[in-house]
Amino acid sequence: GLPHGGLLVRQADCPALFRPRPQDSHKGSFGTLAILAGAPGMTGAALLAARAALYGGAGKILVGLAEAAPPALPCDPWHPELMLRDADGLLDHAARLGVGGWVAGCGLGTDAGAERWLGRLLAEAPASAPLVLDADALVLLGTLPDLARGLAARGGPAILTPHPREAARMLGISTDDVQADRIEAARELAARYRAWVVLKGAGSIVCGPHGAWSVNASGNAGLATAGTGDVLAGMLGALLAQGLEAGEAARAGVWLHGAAADSLVARGIGPIGLTASEIAPAARDLRNRG
Ligand code: AMP
Ligand code: MG
Repeated sequence: GLPHGGLLVRQADCPALFRPRPQDSHKGSFGTLAILAGAPGMTGAALLAARAALYGGAGKILVGLAEAAPPALPCDPWHPELMLRDADGLLDHAARLGVGGWVAGCGLGTDAGAERWLGRLLAEAPASAPLVLDADALVLLGTLPDLARGLAARGGPAILTPHPREAARMLGISTDDVQADRIEAARELAARYRAWVVLKGAGSIVCGPHGAWSVNASGNAGLATAGTGDVLAGMLGALLAQGLEAGEAARAGVWLHGAAADSLVARGIGPIGLTASEIAPAARDLRNRG
């Protein structure tokens, strides 16, 4: 059973995922998402998040790779829909490009450049643009008080997506301590950063800044493989870009990510050898079939 005070997230709790698209919609109707991610050697993390956002229905997706110069690759040959820039180029032109939401941190690195790009994002992106902060962005947030203050000062909606080890590091406790009381760990982080928190792992906890929490019912151990967290971050960003409120996006995105993995396992694609790249197309299928 569920400890007192929480809800279980099931398909019926995520109606926004299945809303039909109005006939007269255009790409502007579904938002422009920017993804700040992918240090050299970690480009895959950025592309996994970006492709997941594409399959998640965002209208336009820009990727700012954590590189000081324009990316070595002119575009993603498998997904030429994605617009690849360097991090500063993306930050410089975000307002003109109409960026309405951000994902930051997937394979971003934690060096001085990463710190500066995240600082720029928190200072320059308007509070009206919701944020998803994942992976290295959480490491930086946990170690640099200036960035944590920057997030608080910004005031707009944000979703933080730590896995248990990242949560432990942010809280200054052990991973075992996080796992021993996952709800408390999620509530503490949500209160500290005044943000929505997804504490990942089997039975992901989604907790709001005022302490209301739910446990996700979908997902399986096939997700215990490289890159699945990057896919979740991109899916959440896509839902935010499409106008879902942060709590609704967090619950729906986490449920959809797990449900996509469940549908793959039902087709014999996993749990053994399920790959992160397969999750977003499976999630797209689930949504279009209702
Ligand atoms: P990350 O560790 O950042 O790559 O994120 C892993 C993703 O896979 C998160 O969304 C986790 O909730 C999910 N995940 C990993 N292992 C499991 C599991 N055993 N059951 C359900 N979801 C899982
Ligand atoms: Mg991760």
